Amino acid sequence: MTFDSSPSDAVGVPLTTSTSYDDPKPVFQKTLKTSIGCTGIGLHTGVRVAMKLHPAPPNTGIVFRRVDLVGGGATIKASWAQVVDSRMCTVLADENGISVATVEHLMSALYGLEVDNVVVELNGPEVPAMDGSAAPFIFLMECAGIVEQDVRRRALRILKQHSYVNGDKMVALGPWHDGLRVDFHIDFRAPAIGRQSCSFVVGTDTFKEELSRARTFGLLSDVTALREAGLARGGSLSNAIVVDGNRILNEDGLRHDDEFVRHKALDAVGDLYLTGFPIIGHFIGRCSSHADTARLMHQVYADPTCWEMVEMWHRPASDTASWLNKAGIAARAAAPERRSAVVG
Ligand SMILES: [Zn+2]
Repeated sequence: MTFDSSPSDAVGVPLTTSTSYDDPKPVFQKTLKTSIGCTGIGLHTGVRVAMKLHPAPPNTGIVFRRVDLVGGGATIKASWAQVVDSRMCTVLADENGISVATVEHLMSALYGLEVDNVVVELNGPEVPAMDGSAAPFIFLMECAGIVEQDVRRRALRILKQHSYVNGDKMVALGPWHDGLRVDFHIDFRAPAIGRQSCSFVVGTDTFKEELSRARTFGLLSDVTALREAGLARGGSLSNAIVVDGNRILNEDGLRHDDEFVRHKALDAVGDLYLTGFPIIGHFIGRCSSHADTARLMHQVYADPTCWEMVEMWHRPASDTASWLNKAGIAARAAAPERRSAVVG
């Protein structure tokens, strides 16, 4: 699979700056105000890793930098083109095979806070798991502060639906009025999880309140097999929900009744940010994994009629209608020929 038609190649797509609003406010790219760091254990490698997030110039995107390697380290762009493994988590690698694992929770937090440009420095092979959710990364970045830059923010708007079916798993990405809508459905045999569904339109407030605290999870019965496969070595009750049949083994229980499916939505947001841009589209995941999302995105990229780059605009302050009405307005302002989009 090639990435000839990947969004990052679409930088030259002509974008008009016209809008139907009286006083349009363009959306600008964002980075961190200052560097900030944390230390933690990698969920799968079990290795203790120090991570530093640094501000980066406009159009840098999210870039991982391994600083523990002899010879100046390695730099790995957060992009679908760099995904080398997505069995249990999303692993990126450069052309020499230098890798960074479990990027999805950090990527999800970056998407939620609408941060475009950051250099993520790691002295080990995996992003620290922290508590298994995106909340510690949100806290970290809000402590650092987030600043606007002087270059316009663009989004990847999905123009037609693609889906990928893998047995009883399914993923789809199709058009949506404005912003990213994520629907997820899971169906686990373990009664403590069972069937759960959720649907969110991802904005900063929604992400922080409804998705960011949902932790990763695993079945006790899978732990031995995962560890034999070299995975989940750092997994514990302090960074994952562990389920045994109808029991939750974590003393404090769940953060949401449907924390499991919320975490799957959180994962999907993080994986989708490997496009390098916010997405205006509707993602649907049914019992799907990181690998299924990766396959879907390969399909989407391979079809250049499926997406386009658009400039982003803030909604005018006078627009006090409900979100759905705002979405309707946004849909008109973001009609394909206009090549502009509106965000809250
Ligand atoms: Zn996850």
